[in-house]
Amino acid sequence: MSSAQFAAVRPSSDQLFEPVLDSYGLRLALVLGNHAADGQCPFFKAALCHHCDIGRGEGAAFDLLTNRRRLAWYREHFADVLQSTAHLVIYNSGSVLNPMEMPMPLLEEVLEMAREQTSIRVVSFDSRESFVTAARVMTLANRLRSDQCVRIILGIESASDVIRNQVLQKEMTDSGIQRVLDQLAVAADSVGWDRVGLDVNIVIGAPGTSRDTAVADARQTASHAISRSRVSVDFNLHPYYPSKRGLKRFPDHPRCSEQILAESLHAVLDVPSVRRPRIFIGLNDEGHDTAADQADSLQTADWIQTFNATQVLPQNPDRYLQFFQRSGTRERSEIGTSGFAHLLGNAGASAQLFEDVPQLRDQTNETKAN
Ligand code: SF4
Repeated sequence: MSSAQFAAVRPSSDQLFEPVLDSYGLRLALVLGNHAADGQCPFFKAALCHHCDIGRGEGAAFDLLTNRRRLAWYREHFADVLQSTAHLVIYNSGSVLNPMEMPMPLLEEVLEMAREQTSIRVVSFDSRESFVTAARVMTLANRLRSDQCVRIILGIESASDVIRNQVLQKEMTDSGIQRVLDQLAVAADSVGWDRVGLDVNIVIGAPGTSRDTAVADARQTASHAISRSRVSVDFNLHPYYPSKRGLKRFPDHPRCSEQILAESLHAVLDVPSVRRPRIFIGLNDEGHDTAADQADSLQTADWIQTFNATQVLPQNPDRYLQFFQRSGTRERSEIGTSGFAHLLGNAGASAQLFEDVPQLRDQTNETKAN
């Protein structure tokens, strides 16, 4: 019996991301299975990326049959949601652009699904740097409609080589990051500058930072990406939490506080840029936060959902924290598909707000001077 026979068609509740709002409107993230050995990210298998449990995968390698069934399950489960989704995000517990982790025939089916849905404007693919080539990105763009944008999610985490490669041991070189930026520019030059972009993951308050340095690290990482990229750069901010491996490796390192997150958000927004980056604060990390139910967890901070949708926040982080405290609710707000109508009602308003705030207007045709 092959391990693929144990791969689950239906994702576990932790891997089943409910739709949320981001700056584009409705955002739907789908987790497909990983085809590599044991269904694990090769970097996880090599005991790298010490903060990350996601690369552990789902306990079994997927194959084309099991992943096709997973995709069909998503299409049925999210049939209504997909019709209104603006931003589709594709994960696979590793690198979507690695053919060993996601074969092209499967990726083709994902692209076909995205192309069919007229509401989808943006499709983001999570990948390590070595699998991002101009040719591959052009292939993705060419399989999508001409009004759809391909964005590559790259987990730079920190611009600091010490934090990224010595503390977290990501084995992601600065030249490797630059190569991605260059390859994306080559692809954009071919398919259109408004059709290719980069979503940079930053771990806020990562091991290697302290209360005094975390905000500066976030700012420096954002600045590093923006100043060197010719394609548009957006950010996924991930406040550090104790994963199983993180806890083992960094037992004394605290989770990112709400204050550090809010200050980091302001710092990232303060980075000079000709195009205002869109920012998404990611809290749902497939259930790998070992202390998600504790009082200092950020899972219940409602202002984060508000920010993700509207991109608007007061200048003073304290005011935002007060807003959060006033809102009073520490209950986790689960947005199941039953609450989908409510989300949709807000999606239009959020998108409109984004359009109405001049400095938030997307300038997707603008590119940097270098
Ligand atoms: S951070 Fe990315 S590359 Fe590293 S183990 Fe996790 S999924 Fe794999």
